[in-house]
Amino acid sequence: MAHLTGGCQCGAVRYEWVERPAYSSVCYCRMCQKASGQPFMGLTGGRREHLTWTRGAPAIFRSSNLVERGFCKDCGTPLTYAFDGSGRISVAINSLDDPEAMPPEKQYGTESKVSWLDGIHALPAQRTDEWMAKDKAAQMVNNQRSG
Ligand SMILES: [Zn+2]
Ligand SMILES: [Zn+2]
Repeated sequence: MAHLTGGCQCGAVRYEWVERPAYSSVCYCRMCQKASGQPFMGLTGGRREHLTWTRGAPAIFRSSNLVERGFCKDCGTPLTYAFDGSGRISVAINSLDDPEAMPPEKQYGTESKVSWLDGIHALPAQRTDEWMAKDKAAQMVNNQRSG
């Protein structure tokens, strides 16, 4: 199996799982909402020694006395979650180069889930190429880096 790789949006921080993560979930708690700026965080993780930093390393914010969260100090991408003393670490699922690789298997923090989340699949929907003007799309310079 090819190792799972990922990193932040700007590419300053890159990682590799030398063993496949053991679990994958979403969390709706208020801590994860603030840490991501989003309705939930998708996290996939395993043993700390199975995750290696192949470029840079995340900056750390201690969101509580029990948990540290890693992020890229250059571009702000949320990257990791680690509960003290657990021997485990998780990465944000969609920071993986292949976010389809680790679909969530469990939900946490459901007491804080925002009321509108379950309805978003029914909202009017468009592909990017349907709303972005072709001339604008042609001018775009993408600063997102993977690999
Ligand atoms: Zn970055
Ligand atoms: Zn949470």
